[in-house]
Amino acid sequence: MDDRTFRNAMGKFATGVTVITTELDGEVHGMTANAFMSVSLNPRLVLISIGERAKMLNKIKESGTFAVNILSEEQREVSMLFAGQIQEKREIEFDRLAELPVIKDSLANICCKVYRQHVEGDHTLFIGEVTDIVLRDGAPLAFYEGKYREIVG
Ligand code: FAD
Repeated sequence: MDDRTFRNAMGKFATGVTVITTELDGEVHGMTANAFMSVSLNPRLVLISIGERAKMLNKIKESGTFAVNILSEEQREVSMLFAGQIQEKREIEFDRLAELPVIKDSLANICCKVYRQHVEGDHTLFIGEVTDIVLRDGAPLAFYEGKYREIVG
């Protein structure tokens, strides 16, 4: 099996799209991520997976906190911006929740403090204990076979 086959197989798993946000020394950093899952109800835990080359990795290690912002279908450009798929720099205005910057108009803002972290291969898995949540109605942005999709209900 080659890397392409592995990537293609993983791409067969349809996901939503999130932007992870954190703040360090007053500076906000965001990164698009679809490696997100719910882990436990008691305590309330979620998981994200961050690549070793992502700037986000050290920012979360140092801040000890992060927010998961679940994007709506209207937020494709937001995903592209925080994945480096749009080159131009843009000024983004963030909301605040539980002392963290969060993405406005997301379907959910989920604030977390780092509960545990595990280095596995070339990624670090952060387990987050959920400290606050805000929810909004709307349709989700989806990602499948390497492309953004909208869910047709
Ligand atoms: P950078 O590449 O520096 O930042 C990302 C972009 O966000 C840059 O364009 C930067 O200008 C912009 N940005 C950051 N902060 C701000 C701010 N405050 N205001 C305005 N713009 C800002 N990688 C993973 O490790 N795990 C995943 O689960 C994952 N899932 C992905 C899912 C999808 C659908 C896509 C498209 C990509 C995914 N990636 C994932 C890849 C990841 O999003 C990119 O590699 C990203 O560029 C890494 O970000 P970085 O932390 O290195 O920072």
